[in-house]
Amino acid sequence: MRSSKGSAVAVALAAGIGVAAVPAQADARSATDGPVTITATGHHNGQVRIDVTESGENYLLIDPTRPGTRCATPNGRTVSIPKDRPPGPGSETFTACVDIMYGAQRQWDMLRDWLGRSGPPGNGRNAPAVYDPSGRGPIWGGYVMFGRMPTGGAPATTLDLVGHQFGHLVYQSTPGGTGSGNESGGLFEGASDIFGVLTDHYADHPQNRPNYLIGDSPSLMGDRPLRYMYNPSLLGDPNCYSSAIPSTEVHAAAGPLNHWFYLLAEGANPGGGKPSSPVCGGDPAALTGIGIRQAGRIFMGALQRKTAQWSYAKTRVASVAAAIDLFGPGSAECAITKAAWRAVSVQEQPGEASCAGSTPSPAPAGP
Ligand SMILES: [Zn+2]
Repeated sequence: MRSSKGSAVAVALAAGIGVAAVPAQADARSATDGPVTITATGHHNGQVRIDVTESGENYLLIDPTRPGTRCATPNGRTVSIPKDRPPGPGSETFTACVDIMYGAQRQWDMLRDWLGRSGPPGNGRNAPAVYDPSGRGPIWGGYVMFGRMPTGGAPATTLDLVGHQFGHLVYQSTPGGTGSGNESGGLFEGASDIFGVLTDHYADHPQNRPNYLIGDSPSLMGDRPLRYMYNPSLLGDPNCYSSAIPSTEVHAAAGPLNHWFYLLAEGANPGGGKPSSPVCGGDPAALTGIGIRQAGRIFMGALQRKTAQWSYAKTRVASVAAAIDLFGPGSAECAITKAAWRAVSVQEQPGEASCAGSTPSPAPAGP
């Protein structure tokens, strides 16, 4: 997240994904508790269906089927909704946690159905979310932190931002960790934006149509989002890779990765109401996307190949390897992966696989 141009909002995602330090009482359930799906109203998405745990006169915001997924206060207590008092305006922690549960559940299902991954950490056990309006966060570790936007004070719990925050957990949990410095920090933030829009598109909420804007809710930033993936420069972030990236603020340094992902998924001129996306240096002259789901598979495959101290160059090489693994060396997906990198000024790297692989020969004709 970012509060305003150039100033980073700390993402208090604690190192590691263990949940051992969570207060033990927080997850306590009795034998009579059961899974139930309720309709609830969050802060940003309007009415949503969320899976919760019924317990006496309350609905505990504990996901009954996606292990570890719950929404807690900073003291570790799971937020519960009284059955006779549905959350509405004024009950900020309730409505923010409804947004968080909705986003975490849609993301879990997206990871399973589109990317073949078992929860953000990949081990079938999610980290708990904490909503803390003060922004300080709890003293225990292993949580995914949510708070208010510094500007305006609305909960930073739009669907894409929930996908973004849990997306950090995906990145942390793939090989190589998070690295240090602003270039790898930019890739860390851009990866989370990618998981945010993947979640947005998977959910396809009728009142919140999927797009490639991050943090686009009127109550967050007014008429502008936090980031434009198809054209980061609309907010002054770089569209194209350059030697300045290692000294660029991390959310801005995500610009070329976000831009690459849009070009890979949608192309430069997708039409159909989707925005056009500029191509750095005018090369390639035309670029057709492969769809967000396939783009997501390639990006996930790249993350599986991540090594310590990740860079744009390494991400390019890894994504080409992933595209070949998924679609074959002679595939259009391989060529478009490379073309989209060229379109954000990340050029071919030494040791990068070729897309000019052999194509299967047609089956013999005849009887
Ligand atoms: Zn972030």
